[in-house]
Amino acid sequence: MAGAVQKEIAVSGVRPTGRQHLGNYFGAVKNFVAMQDMYEGYFFVADYHSLTTHPNAADLSEKSLYIALIYLACGLDPNRCTLYLQSDVPQIPELYLIFNMLAYLGELEREATFKEKVRTQPHNVNAGLLTYPVLMTVDIIIHKARKVPVGKDQQQHVEMSRDLVRRFNNLYKVNYFPEPEPFSFSDTLLNIPSLDGEGKMSKSKPDYTCIYLDDTPEQIRKKIMRMPTDSGPTAPNSEMSVYVRNIFDLLKLVSQADTVRHFEEAYNQCTIRYGDLKKQLAEDIIQYLKPIRENIEALSADENRVYEILKDGGSKARASAAQTLQDVREIIGLKNFKA
Ligand code: AMP
Repeated sequence: MAGAVQKEIAVSGVRPTGRQHLGNYFGAVKNFVAMQDMYEGYFFVADYHSLTTHPNAADLSEKSLYIALIYLACGLDPNRCTLYLQSDVPQIPELYLIFNMLAYLGELEREATFKEKVRTQPHNVNAGLLTYPVLMTVDIIIHKARKVPVGKDQQQHVEMSRDLVRRFNNLYKVNYFPEPEPFSFSDTLLNIPSLDGEGKMSKSKPDYTCIYLDDTPEQIRKKIMRMPTDSGPTAPNSEMSVYVRNIFDLLKLVSQADTVRHFEEAYNQCTIRYGDLKKQLAEDIIQYLKPIRENIEALSADENRVYEILKDGGSKARASAAQTLQDVREIIGLKNFKA
């Protein structure tokens, strides 16, 4: 009898820093949901990562639960993947300690995110910020994952994970950890734009630049209608400005193909009315998010269920992590008295 085919392992997480927006959804969570059957998925709430900004305890705990709730509302199913809190898996900090010995100061200081944090929070440049990519590496390899569904902004971190994994395998002359690779079902890793046309959608930017998954229809209409445009195409088939391109990019994510085609043709023939385009985009986002918003509301009334799912997922994640850590201890020459 042929044995069951081992599914490839996928890992990713989201930091519990607040409400979730379209960037988090299309860059990350939508892929998690689509990966559930094809991959053995471990999806976690990255609560340790949040400590770099020193949140207060009640806030962190509430936001962590909220991310788990968002996962479920978007369609993650605890029977088809493992959902857990990062801090519920003590093997993660243990492996993090080991991997910190493999990461060099120079490469950590060169990371774009670290440099940005040094600029934006000069009063709090802690060691956790510097070693963030090491913790992220461990999040991935603790389950020996290869696929890492993330948005474009995380690409550099996953590349660093590959470097660290290679270094470990070379140093100890093993082929133990698979080299992680960023993953998306779309052709490239996504970068959902901010609604003001400046950079990516991000919760560190003003509220009106993000569409949150739990925004009301009225809030969505208001935010979309204030998106900047340009004075309109003056010649057929002219190139789009960044502002108009952003609107079309969002439309492609939430609208039917013939709707997109209709507006593209109108643009190319110089008959487009940006007001109509934005109205259509707002209505299509509202429709797209409706089931998620309804699920968020329903799950908010049943927090106990979310706790139970996380508790259960934590024990599954610990079992997988314990095996990895035991192997690593052996590989690097630490005694496994605990095993
Ligand atoms: P964070 O909220 O920074 O923990 O990010 C959680 C996930 O959302 C990561 O996989 C990010 O790459 C993804 N993400 C966040 N913002 C965006 C964006 N504007 N476009 C695409 N993906 C994003």
